[in-house]
Amino acid sequence: MEKRDYYEVLGVAKNATPEEIKKAYRKKAIQYHPDKNPGNKEAEEKFKEAAEAYEVLSDPDKRARYDQFGHQGLGGAAGGGFSGGGMSMEDIFSHFGDIFGGSFSGFEGFGGGSSSRSGGRRHVNKGSDLRVKVKLTLKEIATGVEKKIKVPKYVSCTYCKGTGAENGTAYTTCSKCNGSGVVTRVQQTFLGAMQSTTTCPDCGGEGRIITKKCPHCAGEGIVREEEVITLNIPAGVSEGMQLSMAGKGNAARHGGVNGDLLILIEEEPHPDLVRDENDLIYNLLLDLPTAVLGGSVDVPTLDGKARIKVEPGTQPGKIFRLRGKGLPSVNRYGVGDLIVNVSVYIPENLNAAEKKHFEELKTSPNIQPTLTTKQRIFSKLRHMFE
Ligand SMILES: [Zn+2]
Ligand SMILES: [Zn+2]
Repeated sequence: MEKRDYYEVLGVAKNATPEEIKKAYRKKAIQYHPDKNPGNKEAEEKFKEAAEAYEVLSDPDKRARYDQFGHQGLGGAAGGGFSGGGMSMEDIFSHFGDIFGGSFSGFEGFGGGSSSRSGGRRHVNKGSDLRVKVKLTLKEIATGVEKKIKVPKYVSCTYCKGTGAENGTAYTTCSKCNGSGVVTRVQQTFLGAMQSTTTCPDCGGEGRIITKKCPHCAGEGIVREEEVITLNIPAGVSEGMQLSMAGKGNAARHGGVNGDLLILIEEEPHPDLVRDENDLIYNLLLDLPTAVLGGSVDVPTLDGKARIKVEPGTQPGKIFRLRGKGLPSVNRYGVGDLIVNVSVYIPENLNAAEKKHFEELKTSPNIQPTLTTKQRIFSKLRHMFE
């Protein structure tokens, strides 16, 4: 399914403030709330879509990446993250339950009755983020590339469905907190009765206690495995850029929310071409006869070579610009050029016959530059030093 623009989903402007985004999300969440739309699949999808948009736009780092790279910057196109409804209702409430913050009393108690939204929230474990480096050639960067990588990571234990309890059932609701994960204490102070809510010490905030540990994961709910992950690297990325795939990091203990997979881009140097943002630079060293007599030379490009015509009397410092032979920009606006910087190779080791040619040329009428020639050439070169 084609993803909609997150700003469009929430109905806010691109430059919306965090407060406006929060407000807009609250509005959508109330409109499409499952309690208000029982059994309505479309409302549920809209509810999830809004949560996904809010998840990104409420995080300054994710929002910046989304603004720059779109959905691809978040790894959505790579099949990770929340695409395809990967964010469960439980996730949404554990992430953003507080946005309903008590003022919407009608929603309290949502979440299957397993947790109470008044006061503290049930603790949900979050898996740690994983970092991988991906080395790319300029050619791969030019087109974008799909990479399959093996990532050793924690994944949810299939035997206990991530619960850590044998068969996924050997647990009981914590009696101390009645499954809410939090305990409320009332203390008498000189100001009167003070109520405080803290994480339940018996269950660590999970709301349940394992009675028999799953033997496959020793009660952790996660096991170490190697997962093959397909990365869709967009064209135009550059060294040091970081992409992320939400939910592709380590699984959490006892069935929480997965961490993210962070992909650090590294560039492999090209033997001939140097990158300058979206342009590529090639230093062409012409031999003396070609510079003098003209001719055609091949210059390397990312997908082969290009032939350029050299006029007779080509001076060092001349620049050829091959339009569109550079790299695409990562946000898909335009393509860079291949810039050819001309230098001329002055032969260093001549034999006697070659030396004789040059000696003869020395006194030849057109060999020495005239004053106007000097001015013309240096005025053309001056831009290089400005
Ligand atoms: Zn297990
Ligand atoms: Zn408890």
